[in-house]
Amino acid sequence: MHEAGGKLVLQILHAGRYAKVPECVAPSPGKARINTFSRHALTTDEVWGTIADFADTAALAIEAGYDGVEVMGSEGYLAKMVPGKAEFHEMLRYFRVRLDKLKVTLRLGEAATPEALATSGFDEIVLATGVSPRVPDFAGVDYPKAVSYLDVLSGKVTPGQRVAIIGAGGIGFDVAEFLLGDAEESLDPQAFFRAWGVDPKSVTPGGLTAAVDTDAPRRSVFMFQRKDEPLGKRLGKSTGWILKARLRKANVGMTAGATYDAIDDEGLHYTVQGNPHVLPVDHVVLCAGQNSNRTLYDQLVARGLKPRLIGGADVASELDALRAIDQATRLAVTL
Ligand SMILES: Cc1cc2nc3c(=O)[nH]c(=O)nc-3n(C[C@H](O)[C@H](O)[C@H](O)COP(=O)(O)OP(=O)(O)OC[C@H]3O[C@@H](n4cnc5c(N)ncnc54)[C@H](O)[C@@H]3O)c2cc1C
Repeated sequence: MHEAGGKLVLQILHAGRYAKVPECVAPSPGKARINTFSRHALTTDEVWGTIADFADTAALAIEAGYDGVEVMGSEGYLAKMVPGKAEFHEMLRYFRVRLDKLKVTLRLGEAATPEALATSGFDEIVLATGVSPRVPDFAGVDYPKAVSYLDVLSGKVTPGQRVAIIGAGGIGFDVAEFLLGDAEESLDPQAFFRAWGVDPKSVTPGGLTAAVDTDAPRRSVFMFQRKDEPLGKRLGKSTGWILKARLRKANVGMTAGATYDAIDDEGLHYTVQGNPHVLPVDHVVLCAGQNSNRTLYDQLVARGLKPRLIGGADVASELDALRAIDQATRLAVTL
């Protein structure tokens, strides 16, 4: 096929409740009308196992010489079993396992230096050095109450009861969710159903019940953006409304068209439509965008090397792991 200029793509299909084998599986027990075998209801662990099987099959197909895979998604219950962002853990676990299987040498907890890279005799150097948070320029951004989203999400800083978030892009919304959200709700299906009023048995009309009011919000959170448009307007269409609904429930203050004047003991000083305000807060979390981290790239180029740049180090804007992985994969097959 390849010699004749063709491409090979493998379709990976999970037969689910229609598999004509005694071991067939599905999200719920029972028997499909077109199958003589009764199905076993997958546990959450088994769902994760199946997702890993899809990933392994895809990787094996590529190793075997296929040019691509198509995941047949009609039984798409696998992914939607788990709401929230917990799938990122699984993605990282997947890459850890693959690196292990392919015996890739990992040197963690060590900064790659231009000297070491330049003298190690590598044929190619690929830099995926990511991004650094952009620090906005106004009085008090270096004040102790001003903290970066990195410090908050990594647990280095635990913000107080009243928190302002500067920047309402994807990371600003994620930080608000981190400060107010309930991890359990995105991992335990029953907790999710309760919070969102979903009747998993579809007995009630429309499969909806009254959403159970969650406890009072853990903090008072106020979000700000410079653009004069509704906050969250540019979030993803399929998930943005969820984040916005959750934050509305938690009474998050949302201010558009703000300019920032200062951060000091009193809190955050800002101006909207020419009117100055002061918001008393314990912390101000800076989520004001990111810059590509190209220090190492520039140092290597200065030595006459030609490193390749991928991921956030290449393009810092927007949250896009897919683009980073796609770029890395396309580069890897050309090396
Ligand atoms: C809060 C948050 C939520 C996100 N949510 C989503 C989402 O829902 N969907 C989505 O698609 N994307 C999301 N993203 C974006 C996604 O995480 C990034 O697009 C992706 O991680 C970029 O990958 P990367 O490999 O370019 O950089 P990174 O994952 O940032 O990795 C760069 C690595 O390089 C290391 N490094 C830097 N310099 C050196 C050096 N000199 N030596 C050795 N190591 C070095 C860094 O320590 C870091 O570990 C989110 C990001 C954040 C912060």
